[in-house]
Amino acid sequence: MLHKRPALQTFSGISIAGIQDKRFDIVIQDGRFSSVVELEPQLEEPAHPDQRLWISPGIIDLHTHLAWTDFDHDDQLKRSSREIEAMQADAFAATLRTGVTTARDAGGILPSTIRHLVQHYLQPLRVQTSSDMLGAADARGIQHLGARMAQIFDTGAGWIKIMATGGLGAPAEKVVEPNFSEEEFAFIVRNAHAHHKKVLVHTWGGVTIDWSTQAGVESIEHGMFLSEAQAGRLAEAGVAFVPTTSIYRIAADPKGVLGLNPVICDRAARAAEAHAKAIGYAKKAGVCIGFGTDYATPALHGYNLQELDTLMEYGLTRAEAWKSATESAAGILGSGNELGRIAEGYIADAVIYNADPYQARNAEQLRSSIVSVMTGAQESDLIK
Ligand SMILES: [Zn+2]
Repeated sequence: MLHKRPALQTFSGISIAGIQDKRFDIVIQDGRFSSVVELEPQLEEPAHPDQRLWISPGIIDLHTHLAWTDFDHDDQLKRSSREIEAMQADAFAATLRTGVTTARDAGGILPSTIRHLVQHYLQPLRVQTSSDMLGAADARGIQHLGARMAQIFDTGAGWIKIMATGGLGAPAEKVVEPNFSEEEFAFIVRNAHAHHKKVLVHTWGGVTIDWSTQAGVESIEHGMFLSEAQAGRLAEAGVAFVPTTSIYRIAADPKGVLGLNPVICDRAARAAEAHAKAIGYAKKAGVCIGFGTDYATPALHGYNLQELDTLMEYGLTRAEAWKSATESAAGILGSGNELGRIAEGYIADAVIYNADPYQARNAEQLRSSIVSVMTGAQESDLIK
């Protein structure tokens, strides 16, 4: 159930996910938490266990592709525009239903499309986007890049996405080779920042991680071949790491929902293997880790919580995995003062559960414990 911008809503004796043995009275007014008060410890159990509720901040997915309908872009081109739009609307709905109230789209969706889907399909998902991506085909010098970026700025995107290396489409020995010259890369970041845009960098590893640190981008994505030394420098520079771990395990499974060919599955398996190590380095160095799924097809939208399971399997504690999807993610978006926490004055993006989310065995159990998803905004607030 989706609950949009409550005018007045109160919860008595509700538990906040991750805070043990405490209950709270929470009041929401006009889509914001107006009071969050801890209750006096009580001698007897106040509510029947069946009536206990838990609340967590709305999940923030920092790496989605909400406009894509197929793994292979050529397949999307075979669909009618009406079919594509309906599938995109379904992606918005499925994403919200699973508790993701904010997404950063890592390429493919325009602000105008977001506004249309929010308004026309009544899905108040908060989305920041990078519109179009800068990739290998744009490595044609500063002048070309400046013109391309001007087009992207014109769409109203808040982010610039740099495809700094290849991905699953590239053979293992080539995958960390840079798509741009160092000069081009530095120009993109400088020009984006000069226009008050943030920068996210797709990089599997290698020298483009160092360029990202030097240029001071906001986040690097995937980064499975991150080295221990690079992790230390990321932490020092305050560059966030959005590893998108679960997608590579899904892609590695030839019988999985993506059903990819054996060559791609093999590349994904190697990426997944490296990821656990990268997470270990990042955690040890104190890098800010952000939750992102890279989910891009109907079989994956709505299953975003799976990323929590993989992050924990790769070494994050449950609290660290949740933080990556709430407080840290909000910080990476530049919204740390109003999103990602259950606290007075914060936007009431939240998920209500009928079981302790910190006890969930896995994403599936967590998902099935969701009673409702609340958004602090209604559609009209998001399309201003
Ligand atoms: Zn992506």
